[in-house]
Amino acid sequence: MDARLLDILVCPICKGPLDYRKASQELACKPCRLAYPIKDDIPVMLEEEARQLSEEELAS
Ligand SMILES: [Zn+2]
Repeated sequence: MDARLLDILVCPICKGPLDYRKASQELACKPCRLAYPIKDDIPVMLEEEARQLSEEELAS
């Protein structure tokens, strides 16, 4: 994914910075405990599309 795009993306809920997870192709927001999927290089910044992060994932 484009690093410049990542720079301007924020969590739609808390407006905080996101953590790009290359292996799972997701953008994680630790405060919200959510991971937004990246589909075909396009981040899907929708709460209803996001999945909950596990405790293990939050720690990494
Ligand atoms: Zn958030």
